[in-house]
Amino acid sequence: MRELVYDTTLEIHMDNLVSNLNYYRSLLKPHTKVMVMVKAFSYGLGTYDVAKLLEENKVDYLGVANTFEGIELRKAGIKLPIMVMKPEVDSFDLVVEYQLTPTLFSQHALERLIDTVDNSKPLAISIKIDTGMHRLGFDSTEISELTKTLKANSFLKIESIFSHLAAAEDPKEDEFSCHQIKTFISIANTISENFSYPIDQHILNSNGIVRFTDSQFDMVRLGIGLYGISSDKKTQNNLLPASTLKSKIAQIKHIKKGETVGYNRRGVATENITIATIPVGYADGLNRNLSNGNWSMIVNNQKAPIVGNVCMDMVMIDVTNINCNVGDEAFIFSAKNTIIEMSKCIGTIPYEILTSYSPRVKRVFKY
Ligand SMILES: *Cc1c(COP(=O)(O)O)cnc(C)c1O
Repeated sequence: MRELVYDTTLEIHMDNLVSNLNYYRSLLKPHTKVMVMVKAFSYGLGTYDVAKLLEENKVDYLGVANTFEGIELRKAGIKLPIMVMKPEVDSFDLVVEYQLTPTLFSQHALERLIDTVDNSKPLAISIKIDTGMHRLGFDSTEISELTKTLKANSFLKIESIFSHLAAAEDPKEDEFSCHQIKTFISIANTISENFSYPIDQHILNSNGIVRFTDSQFDMVRLGIGLYGISSDKKTQNNLLPASTLKSKIAQIKHIKKGETVGYNRRGVATENITIATIPVGYADGLNRNLSNGNWSMIVNNQKAPIVGNVCMDMVMIDVTNINCNVGDEAFIFSAKNTIIEMSKCIGTIPYEILTSYSPRVKRVFKY
């Protein structure tokens, strides 16, 4: 069967991902391991292809949020160790079956694991410590019970102990971040002293790698930085964009002064204008808050503002002064109109923009 040619594609620049990975690696000591987070469809890009690329580039670990994401990677043939950050306690058997490393974050979860799995075989686990994020993790009052349970169940091999910084990117919160790091060291060492084998310790995410480099310990967990985004200016200048979202002009219309465009007649022509209809809408992930000039696409190297409301499957843009034709490319975001700018326009963060583009948008991996 002939392959479908899509109008709207998310191009993923695989070489740029490798370049970003190597930039972060250059900040680390040679023996520091790198886990790359590929949760949420590799921050929206496509889990398998990105994971495969990372495997080829010899990262040490992949990180996913839930068991489903880990199973998908195994089914696709990924062999790297995979840590599941918040495994479902009702599916610990599958975590083991697919050779994923479960993160244990509470006594309840730990006991469910012990009850569920075969304790005659060693099982690698990781332990999450809550040092101030207050989301998941054991806190300092729960450590002695945790240690006792782990010692009594020696089939459990602690591969790593980790925590997560709540505000690694924010200089105003550096005192808090340092407090988190100190608390982490103390708790991780308290646990580790009870075991004769080495246990990896890690706390840094992407912004942490840049801003708290000395606390890289045994491993770091790279996420958004791999995908080309940092809140640190100098770092941002060293990163390359991971993706470009583009579509094609489906139709061009000339609108007379006083006429309106789109639903609820929100796009009002205050003079004669020319519009282009682009086949991408909020069902594809184009946030509806970008309507009415809040965002501009790039057509023929010029800015074409959105006219009226974003529809479910389409959007209209103003191309009055742009030389363009049906079939020409319209860049929804690119190096010239970035994800960072888009996120600011609608009061969110790049993470949400990245992970919002729906499966309907065709991913095209460029090597
Ligand atoms: C997602 C995630 C990361 C990566 O965070 P970035 O800010 O994207 O670098 C690191 N650690 C944990 C536990 C995470 O869930």
